[in-house]
Amino acid sequence: MIKKTQTPMREQDPRVRVHNFDEVPVGYTEEEAIREAERCLLCPAPPCVEGCPVNVDIPSFIDHVKNGRFSEAIKVIKDTNGLPAICGRVCPQEDQCQGACVLGKRFEPVAIGRLERFCADWEAEHVSPTSKVQSPKSKTMDVGHWTMDLTSGYRVAIIGAGPAGLTAAADLRKLGHAVTVFEALHVAGGVLMYGIPEFRLPKAIVKREIDALCAMGVKIEVNKVIGRIGTVDDLLDQGYDAVFIGTGAGLPRFLRIPGENLNGVYSANEFLTRTNLMRAFRFPDYDTPIKVGERVVTVGGGNVAMDSARTALRLGAKESIIVYRRAEEQLPARAEEVEHAKEEGIQFKLLANPVRFIGEAGRLVGVECLRMELGEPDASGRARPIPIPGSEFTLDIDTIIIAIGNEPHPLIPRTTEGLDVGRRGNIVAENETGQTSKEGVFAGGDIVTGAATVIEAMGAGKRAAAAIDRYLKEVK
Ligand code: FAD
Ligand code: SF4
Repeated sequence: MIKKTQTPMREQDPRVRVHNFDEVPVGYTEEEAIREAERCLLCPAPPCVEGCPVNVDIPSFIDHVKNGRFSEAIKVIKDTNGLPAICGRVCPQEDQCQGACVLGKRFEPVAIGRLERFCADWEAEHVSPTSKVQSPKSKTMDVGHWTMDLTSGYRVAIIGAGPAGLTAAADLRKLGHAVTVFEALHVAGGVLMYGIPEFRLPKAIVKREIDALCAMGVKIEVNKVIGRIGTVDDLLDQGYDAVFIGTGAGLPRFLRIPGENLNGVYSANEFLTRTNLMRAFRFPDYDTPIKVGERVVTVGGGNVAMDSARTALRLGAKESIIVYRRAEEQLPARAEEVEHAKEEGIQFKLLANPVRFIGEAGRLVGVECLRMELGEPDASGRARPIPIPGSEFTLDIDTIIIAIGNEPHPLIPRTTEGLDVGRRGNIVAENETGQTSKEGVFAGGDIVTGAATVIEAMGAGKRAAAAIDRYLKEVK
């Protein structure tokens, strides 16, 4: 008899967690993981695998969990996914593997993400990810669960140490190429480090995954802004045989309405980076606080908006309000994040859109919004929000965080000759290979697609690594 509902995961009490930055869900125990794994039907033609952008062999790893073979389970996951502890925590599984799960047609789908997280955490507790075994005469090296050929002699430069760049780096390294990653910030990880908050993705976990990459021999050079210290062509001239660009979409979009320059108006990028990277939440241990008022509005309905609103609450806001121009069904954030936000007391003002920020002596004191109604679907396929004339209302607030999306940073496109760039500033690259208009130059992740997801960026990094490997062997 199949259990209809997922094995619940224990979480910090919402009343407690709004006062700390510790992770919200605490993870499955071995018994809970086995219980959840027992729900899987081990389908012979599993649609969940197709639903996963990196095609993890889901029934096979779940079968290992079911039988208590956790070390085998993580091996299966890591065959195709180099960042399982991260994906298990932040992937939108409801739209991907779990959305396709056969069980989900009648009951709750198997909690694939939670099981993936369990396996990665189990490995971190029981196996050193940086353990290396190399015999002096051998041309291969065992790192964790991978055996690598070290003989290729080719050098690849990766620009950007986010999920796309790190995944491409890992796969290219496994294929025996020398890989150097150039990262603009002082830490590697991209959005995983500077965007997604500690309470959703502890930075120690990201660091652990990056340490494992370094143990494989991937070289990461931080504080290196390509386009400033040198160009893509300079890298090719310096003897790199191929370049992969994974620079993400880190340029915040603004509303372009009156009052946007007032003190108290933040982009989500600034707000989250100052909290995560500059550790504003550890003030006074860190001398880099961020001012958060008592009543904070976050504009937007995606993961970035949920993260900002929940962070504001943890930094001391008495009220944290999401203003989103569509309805609840259209919220693009992961379902779990919306649920967590509601449990924590985040208020939702739906079908509303700011039209003007109100200031006094240069400081934000309010926001004027218009009510919206939904019309026919727009180009994104979602119902178009239409302003209702005369429906203005004002919220008295002291901080506003704008989380309405990001665009690709123009530095690399502007400084690279012969690189085709799309209408929105994204680099044009083939989906299957990441090949750009420039020979030997590949690209993937948010810089190509615009703001998307971690696993999609990883999928692009994987496909590009395979294509770069073919290019090196066939063309170079
Ligand atoms: P990024 O992660 O942006 O990494 C790009 C890296 O390139 C950065 O480290 C940047 O500093 C570096 N770089 C940029 N320019 C240069 C240069 N010129 N030279 C050198 N380095 C450079 N996705 C999910 O799947 N689930 C979630 O829950 C989720 N939550 C999110 C929450 C927030 C707050 C944000 C901002 C995004 C979230 N996303 C989520 C989206 C996801 O994080 C991104 O889609 C993903 O990180 C894109 O990966 P990437 O490697 O393409 O780019
Ligand atoms: Fe298991 Fe669902 Fe995948 Fe079938 S579709 S193998 S039930 S996780």
